[in-house]
Amino acid sequence: MERRIDHYLERLVSSDSMTFYKAVCEFAKERIEPNYLHWERNHELIPEDVIDEMGQMGLFGVTVSESYGGQGGNQLDLILMGLALGYHSQSLAITPGAAMSLGAKPLQLFGTDAQKKAHLPDLAAGKRMFVFGLSEPGRGSDATNPEVTAKKEGDKWVIKGEKCWSTNAKWSSHVVVHAMTSPESKPGYRTTCFIVPMNDPNVSYQEMAGKDLWSQSSTGSISFDEVTVTDDAILGKENEGFKVMAKTLNGGRLFIAGMSLASLAFGLDKCRTYSQEREQFGVPIGSFQRVQDVIIDMDITLEQGLTWLIDLTNRYDDNTLDRESAAKVKIECSRKASDHMTMAMEICGGVSSLDEFGLTRHHRDLFVCRVGEGSNFALKGFAARPLMPDITLQ
Ligand SMILES: Cc1cc2nc3c(=O)[nH]c(=O)nc-3n(C[C@H](O)[C@H](O)[C@H](O)COP(=O)(O)OP(=O)(O)OC[C@H]3O[C@@H](n4cnc5c(N)ncnc54)[C@H](O)[C@@H]3O)c2cc1C
Repeated sequence: MERRIDHYLERLVSSDSMTFYKAVCEFAKERIEPNYLHWERNHELIPEDVIDEMGQMGLFGVTVSESYGGQGGNQLDLILMGLALGYHSQSLAITPGAAMSLGAKPLQLFGTDAQKKAHLPDLAAGKRMFVFGLSEPGRGSDATNPEVTAKKEGDKWVIKGEKCWSTNAKWSSHVVVHAMTSPESKPGYRTTCFIVPMNDPNVSYQEMAGKDLWSQSSTGSISFDEVTVTDDAILGKENEGFKVMAKTLNGGRLFIAGMSLASLAFGLDKCRTYSQEREQFGVPIGSFQRVQDVIIDMDITLEQGLTWLIDLTNRYDDNTLDRESAAKVKIECSRKASDHMTMAMEICGGVSSLDEFGLTRHHRDLFVCRVGEGSNFALKGFAARPLMPDITLQ
């Protein structure tokens, strides 16, 4: 049976884009599908030789320009890569996905020539990564007011505090730290982003223990104990760190919406197959209308979600995407996909609980899509603002 996601993408993207998408699907089928369960059962992060292979395929440089050794692709290519890998595993998709959309992207958008030359070629080759250091133990949704501080002392900045939930920390050479630099200034102009090397003696990192989703993805907590850097470590402008973070998150939210749809597409195909094979009361369970309801609802959401997401991604590439639209597609795709996944598990019955069946993995991973890159509830408040411009929304 043709995968339903491929059926829709054939209609939505060009044949050149489909050629790239299919090459990534092929890689995922050969290198990921046969090994995934083993990594999962052994609680292993993605093996480094797989990261190397993805690097050689150019998957860490999809959106990096050719002049820095990347593939010179656009956001649509990045989304297609996320759909191809995320169908098997969100952990696998988010590794190059975050490396590009949260790691290389802010450097591409706001870096100086010297910063780009120093880092982008290695990032594009997948030799090392950058961590996006926004969240902190005490600052999740309220990330615009970091507790991490950077204070100017002479010609040095002294950075103190802790970041957490940092995707790809294990493989990263640097972290982009969003720090409070001017607490008295007006909102939006209080923070600055700094590029800080992970091997600085005053930086310590540890993998966050006990995380039971995105299991093959590295998630670290990173502490800064009076780390000193100079002005050339600033990414973007002093006191405009919020701008760096906000612009970066627009692309990241599209990527999360894509991974949500990839998981949904996996669940849909699993249900379609199982419902035609599994018999109860002498007939395939797919002949029961309640089961058909679940399958057709998943299919409608997949078609709607892909059509919407590809449209917004094209707008991102044209530089006309607004922040509210990126938030809305992330909210809707993640909540619908995770709601459907619960129903998908119900119609497949007890077999859904087996790890080898794959639905529990996607069900767990979809939770991150609801909270990551701005929790859905917090983003709703933000997306509602332009609808009621005459009042202050809490
Ligand atoms: C696996 C994983 C990987 C991650 N990777 C990264 C990363 O690479 N870099 C990074 O910086 N962060 C990362 N994050 C962090 C993620 O962005 C945060 O979890 C997210 O911003 C929410 O913050 P919080 O978890 O602290 O929840 P909180 O902010 O504490 O929110 C708790 C609850 O309160 C609700 N709430 C909060 N504020 C509002 C509001 N204004 N209106 C309505 N409801 C509200 C939320 O919706 C939620 O339900 C990652 C998280 C996970 C789980």
